[in-house]
Amino acid sequence: MLDGLPQGALLALAGFLGLLIGSFLNVVIYRLPKMMDQQWVAECAELSGQTAPDTQQLSLLSPRSRCSACGHAIAWHENIPVVSYLFLRGKCSSCGTSIGWRYPAVEVTTALLFTFCVWRWGSTSTALAWCSFSAALLALALIDWDTTLLPDDITLPLLWAGLVIAALELNPGLKLHDALWGTAFGYLALWAVYWSFKLVTGKEGMGYGDFKLFAALGAWFGWTALVPIILMASVIGAVVGIAMKFTSGLREGGYIPFGPFLAGAGFTAMVFGPQSILKFVGL
Ligand SMILES: [Zn+2]
Repeated sequence: MLDGLPQGALLALAGFLGLLIGSFLNVVIYRLPKMMDQQWVAECAELSGQTAPDTQQLSLLSPRSRCSACGHAIAWHENIPVVSYLFLRGKCSSCGTSIGWRYPAVEVTTALLFTFCVWRWGSTSTALAWCSFSAALLALALIDWDTTLLPDDITLPLLWAGLVIAALELNPGLKLHDALWGTAFGYLALWAVYWSFKLVTGKEGMGYGDFKLFAALGAWFGWTALVPIILMASVIGAVVGIAMKFTSGLREGGYIPFGPFLAGAGFTAMVFGPQSILKFVGL
C-alpha cells in the first residue's frame, strides 16, 4: 500500500507515527507502574479479607491526563507531541509548573527510532516489528529507571513477539531455533548469575524482570547475540554508574536498575548489529 510513496514521505510518516506512539509511551511509563500498585493493593486487601480502598481506577485511556501539580485537565491542543511543549514553553498553562523535558524527549526518541526502522527495512512487516520492539524497549528502560520494575505486561509480550516473528521469518537472518535458544539461554544465564551472586553475597543483584528482558532480547537477536549484549550492557552500566558517582546523582541505597542498560544494548544491537558490539567493547 505504501510502496508508491517516495522515500522522504515514508520516513516523514514513520517519524510522525513515532511522535504519536511516543506520546502514548509517556502515558504508559507514567501510569503502568501506578496501575500495578493499585492492583497489588487490591489483591493484598482481598487476600487479607478486607475491602479494597476506594480509589479511582487508573487505566491507560482514562481518566484524561492532568497536571500533576494543580490537576488542570490537559486539553487536546496542549497534548500535541513536542509542538504543545514548545508552545507552552514547557509550563502548565494553568499553574505554570514546569513540565518535564523527558516528555518531548521520549516523543522525539520514538520518532527517530521509527524513522530508523523504516529507513533500514522499508515499508515492510519487518520494519513494523522493529518499531514495536523499539517502543516496548524504550518504555521498559524508563519504567525500570523510575521504579526498578520491569512489568511482565511488556517483557512477556516482547519475548513472545520475538519468537513469533522469527517463526514467521520476518526477522532477516534469524532462524527460529536460534531465537528459541536465545530465549532459553538468556533467561537461564541471568538466573544463574542471580543465584550465584545471592549465595555468595546474600544480596540480590537484579530482579526476575531482568531475566525476562534478556530472554526477550535473545528471542529478537538469537543466542549468538547474548554475550555481545551483556558485555555492552555492562559497559553502559559502568559508564553511567561512574558518571552518577561523580555528579553525586547516585540514588538512595545506591541501587541502579540493570534494565535500562540491557535496553541500551538492545538498541545498539538493533542499529549496528549485535556482532559489531564486540568491536565497540574492544574484542
Ligand atoms: Zn498545573
